Amino acid sequence: MNFKILYAEGDGIGKDIVPPTVEIIKEAVKRVEDASIEFERIELGLEALDKYGDRFPRQAQDMLMSYRYLLKGPIETPVGEGERSVNVRIRLLLDLYANIRPVRYESYMQSPLKDPNGVDLVIIRENTDDIYRGIEWPYDSDEASRLRSIMKDQFNIDISSDSGVGIKSISRRATERIARFAIEYALKNNRRSITIMHKGNIMKYTEGFFREVVYNLYKREYADKIYLENEQPQDSSRRILINDRIADNMLQQIIINPRSYDIILAPNLNGDYVSDAAGALIGNIALLGSANIGDDAAMFEAVHGTAPKYAGQHLANPTGIINAGVMMLEHLGLSNAALLIRRALAEMYNRKIVTRDVARYMNVNPVSTDEFCSSIIDYIKDSGNDAR
Ligand code: NAP
Repeated sequence: MNFKILYAEGDGIGKDIVPPTVEIIKEAVKRVEDASIEFERIELGLEALDKYGDRFPRQAQDMLMSYRYLLKGPIETPVGEGERSVNVRIRLLLDLYANIRPVRYESYMQSPLKDPNGVDLVIIRENTDDIYRGIEWPYDSDEASRLRSIMKDQFNIDISSDSGVGIKSISRRATERIARFAIEYALKNNRRSITIMHKGNIMKYTEGFFREVVYNLYKREYADKIYLENEQPQDSSRRILINDRIADNMLQQIIINPRSYDIILAPNLNGDYVSDAAGALIGNIALLGSANIGDDAAMFEAVHGTAPKYAGQHLANPTGIINAGVMMLEHLGLSNAALLIRRALAEMYNRKIVTRDVARYMNVNPVSTDEFCSSIIDYIKDSGNDAR
């Protein structure tokens, strides 16, 4: 089998961390899989803006529609102005409706928690609905003015003329789709609970609707596989607990009581907030990878952003994008290569071969991004043939 994957370096530290990650993945597949993998580079972000006047140019869109798999470095999204986020545009173009972000504590991490051992969360975030889609207009635009007039004329609601306007929409279709994805993931990966994170007490017909649609779907389609918080069926150890938490409470619950949570299922914006908050539990979002999955396409990326102050300095930690690559290999069924890279990463941390962000907690001298990656490649070369 031959896999053809696109990669984009992205902005900021993307140029430091993505190319060596591609080399790590190629080396691992070569060593332990009866398959091959080829990568082709596309231009996204600032380099595309400079060259084509668009951060997500037509060439890249066409390549994505054809290849359908992408390993992507972080891309800058200017605050308060400019085009829509490239990340959001890619998710919508390929209909990558499910975002998965596993957050698991390992002993080499420096967590701010007193007892981080129980931290083993998976955030499953709906990617296509919600205010996060970016349906919004500046206060002085014609569109905002027309929407304010409709609100006044048809609903007798005053929105002052100095207000930017955005639309939050949550659909039954997208919610049922992510709910099914979450429970199938839970069943496949032996997870024990799914907690719906919502702000349904205030936003009743969007976030409250999300909660209601998820519960209804599980009761209708998965009745023999789930139980609710107020129930205690005899075979509960074989079923998945379904509960829900209001979003603000959820953010404190994962800090004071992380062991009680497993999969967190959230609409788009809540999912964004809780991902970084959960990442902080293990001390460093630079370690986290994430997957954006659709029915016939997928994109893999680190959770962190472009960290511009470290761009081009070879100080950045590539673990997040390497973990994203591991998720990609697992998704493609290349589990031997995925396992080999996981082992290599753990070995680097055990040997204290770490980049600056981690070295400062371990009180050791840091290695550069390239040294970290070449040590991983050496490990893969040394142990790859044995692992086959
Ligand atoms: P960020 O780029 O994640 O950086 C925040 C801080 O996290 C950095 O200053 C650094 O902390 C640390 N950090 C993040 N990644 C690191 C790494 N690999 N190695 C070492 N340290 C790392 O977040 P941001 O500053 O909020 O966002 C910057 C830009 O990235 C924005 O334009 C945003 O839109 C974009 N962004 C893109 C994506 C994406 O493409 N998926 C995701 C998030 C943000 P210290 O300063 O403590 O060393």
